[in-house]
Amino acid sequence: MRIPLIAGNWKMHKTVHDAVFFAKEFRGLVKDLTGVDIVIAPAFPAVHAVAEALRASNVAVAAQDVYWEREGAFTGEVSAPMLADAGAEYVILGHSERRTLFGDTNATVNRKLHAAVASGLTPIVCVGETLAQRDAGETLVVLDRQVKESLDGVTGEQLSTMVLAYEPVWAIGTGRNATPDQAAEAHTHIRQRLRQWFGIDSAEQCHIVYGGSVKPDNIRPLATHIDVDGALVGGASLEVRGFADLVRKVIA
Ligand code: PEP
Repeated sequence: MRIPLIAGNWKMHKTVHDAVFFAKEFRGLVKDLTGVDIVIAPAFPAVHAVAEALRASNVAVAAQDVYWEREGAFTGEVSAPMLADAGAEYVILGHSERRTLFGDTNATVNRKLHAAVASGLTPIVCVGETLAQRDAGETLVVLDRQVKESLDGVTGEQLSTMVLAYEPVWAIGTGRNATPDQAAEAHTHIRQRLRQWFGIDSAEQCHIVYGGSVKPDNIRPLATHIDVDGALVGGASLEVRGFADLVRKVIA
């Protein structure tokens, strides 16, 4: 039985001081909430401090990316063992901003995913079509390719603990969310593919969350479909009371 997961992706926002200030207030605001997994993804410099501020709370920490090698001459990169040591439990992979601006591909996402799993991190793997692909009627084909290639070599057992994030690129940071029907169609399609490729049990346990301009006032219609298991939230995760409100709404 899947419980909803809400993850806040702070992108390149908040200093360590601001991130810790948020975390300390946030943990108090959500401490009574059960039946929901809550995750915050600060920028790298704040991962450790936020994990410490959230210690023994019901909020976990994610990193926003990882490199696949354990250590070595890779200036600017951060490895999975480093993130796990810093207190991260999750890692976002293949966010559309990484794919568009920093050259991530399904193949590099796949390498990162295996490195994450080897270090005990739970991947949150982002997939989603561009507006041009949707307009051309290619959405489901694009999702198939992204999911299949990003998850290459993954076992059914591994899949069952993972999170996929369906994030239509045209809905990220634009204020234009997918309709509940559009999200449901994509999620149901992805889960059906997961059943085919990994088996029914694993597909039923894997979380598929929606991302793209989720706010407190649209989370309910978006996340009530049987195949939508919560949300990956960008802009609306930056303000502490609003984000706590959003988390509360998903289980209301
Ligand atoms: C995201 O960053 O993954 C995202 C969905 O952003 P926003 O909620 O701002 O659209």
